Amino acid sequence: MLMKTFYFYLLVLLAFLPQMVLGQKNTNPYNLALLSSLDSLTKLVEKNADQDLVEIKQYVPDVVLDLKYATKDNFLKKKLYKKGYAFVRLPVAKALAQVQAELAVYGVGIKVFDAYRPYSVTRKMFEIRPDTVFLAVPWRGSQHNRGCAVDVTLVDLMSKKEIPMPTPYDDFTEKAHANYTNLPEEQIKDRELLKEVMHKAGFKVYESEWWHFTYKDCQQYGLVDIDLEKLAKSKKLKK
Ligand SMILES: [Zn+2]
Repeated sequence: MLMKTFYFYLLVLLAFLPQMVLGQKNTNPYNLALLSSLDSLTKLVEKNADQDLVEIKQYVPDVVLDLKYATKDNFLKKKLYKKGYAFVRLPVAKALAQVQAELAVYGVGIKVFDAYRPYSVTRKMFEIRPDTVFLAVPWRGSQHNRGCAVDVTLVDLMSKKEIPMPTPYDDFTEKAHANYTNLPEEQIKDRELLKEVMHKAGFKVYESEWWHFTYKDCQQYGLVDIDLEKLAKSKKLKK
């Protein structure tokens, strides 16, 4: 009997441990631990500066932003962010700065389509389009929710125009595969340049999407569900 009581309390303790330690709340039906308040994030950053979500622009000043989910120009034809901000964890921003510096030699730079995405937006996307190949499933969450994935392409450094790639962003076809070969030589060359420089900086391409890159050790960053505007406001950024 005593043993049973002990196990009961142990189970209760384990169930609430993530919340007690990290201030995480389970505000989803999948019981995922989510970091959903600025206070929790601040506490985490105090312990480990690498956990901070920072604006890419501050580390890559000449980055081109074209945040599709802040517009209706996306596969869902819905505006999912009130305003577009491109946040990533601190080491990811530093790695992107390395990418930009290396690409400059070729006269090109990066354009960002999406970066940190609040978990609730991932859920909304899946509700509208339940696609398990091209979309992150809500019971697992997305690497974008962890602040360590970016959707990028190449632009000409001078004109800021996009370099032609195999497909447009969020084209969910075979042509979007990162190793697809039935393409003009020039497009393969440019896609491979993007992959090569990103890989060198610690990113890995997603095999179904040439534009989606995940930074190494992504799982060490938790799932976050803090509104982009709230995050921006907390950093006193103006837009
Ligand atoms: Zn992505």
